[in-house]
Amino acid sequence: MTAIVSHHVYEARIDRVRSVMAARGIDALLLSVGHDLPYLAGYHAMPLERLTMFVLPRDGHASLIIPKLEAPRVVEMPSVFSLLPWGETEDPVALTHKCLGAAQKIAVGDQMWARFLVELLAVRPGATYVRAQQVMSALRATKDQAEIDALIAVGAAADRVAMQLQSGDIPLLGRTEAQVSADISARLIAEGHDKVNFAIVAAGENAASPHHHPGSRIIQRDEIVLCDFGGTMNGYCSDITRCVYLGDIPTDVADAYAVLKTAQATGVSSAVVGQTCESVDARTRAVIEQAGYGDYFVHRTGHGIGMEEHEDPYMVSGNTEIIAAGHAFSVEPGIYIPGKWGMRLEDIVVATDAGPLPMNKVNHDLVAIHA
Ligand code: ZN
Ligand code: ZN
Ligand code: ZN
Repeated sequence: MTAIVSHHVYEARIDRVRSVMAARGIDALLLSVGHDLPYLAGYHAMPLERLTMFVLPRDGHASLIIPKLEAPRVVEMPSVFSLLPWGETEDPVALTHKCLGAAQKIAVGDQMWARFLVELLAVRPGATYVRAQQVMSALRATKDQAEIDALIAVGAAADRVAMQLQSGDIPLLGRTEAQVSADISARLIAEGHDKVNFAIVAAGENAASPHHHPGSRIIQRDEIVLCDFGGTMNGYCSDITRCVYLGDIPTDVADAYAVLKTAQATGVSSAVVGQTCESVDARTRAVIEQAGYGDYFVHRTGHGIGMEEHEDPYMVSGNTEIIAAGHAFSVEPGIYIPGKWGMRLEDIVVATDAGPLPMNKVNHDLVAIHA
């Protein structure tokens, strides 16, 4: 993720972080590898053995401590943080210690190498350490406008690949699942993704396995092909599932798909601010249960999405969290008949004060392909 986002966006995020830190009595925040750092500073650290550390004192200016050889990759934003490059013979933990000043209660990012925390514990034994997740989780889950714009753009790019699938532009018949997966991956890049995160292709009875790994099975006539794929563009993720049928759709498949489509649309329309996350799952599931397929919908309805493919909030029974404007998540019910076929329909939706805003708009039907 680079500076396509204005520094004002990062300043606003840091202000929000400071107020959460104040509310929780946290004096300083330490972030290293992972997605919290690019969220606050626009810089994604590589998982190197050399320490990268963002130090945010609640009441002081932030610093980005970084190996000197990585410094050229940083887009400097002096209003957001000062850059502190360290040379090969310097001690970055001592530098972190210095930037922490008098901080007593320190929030530490989940993905900072244990090694650096152990070294910090040795130089700052009296401090209290808590997880940075306490500060970051709710903020990360509530997308600001720059993030929603990024999700719209990456969703549209994934939609274009789904459209190629539905129009028959992506050859299926006689190819292996793995070949089609590679083809979809290349098309995700061609449509603007920077990186492919996954491309599940599952044909026939393989589609009954929700996280099937595409293999050497050859795709044949008269079977369903489930494609679930996503990638990252400008730091934000896409995730979409569409199914196509090679030939005339048999009645049992058409009947089940009609139920699935209604259930998914119900889930998307349930993405309403003020409702609970579990209610999205319950309302989606009820449609499938009432039609008699309840035993064949074997997973939660959805997951949050943003800089990561799976993040808070989860649309699952037991999650009583209230949906807020800016929550972005998938609605992806499925019906899986072991040994026969499976189907899933997935869109990303953002809850807004004006109602659910879908990121995916491509045809929701089970499209029949006659090749
Ligand atoms: Zn998944
Ligand atoms: Zn998916
Ligand atoms: Zn998903």
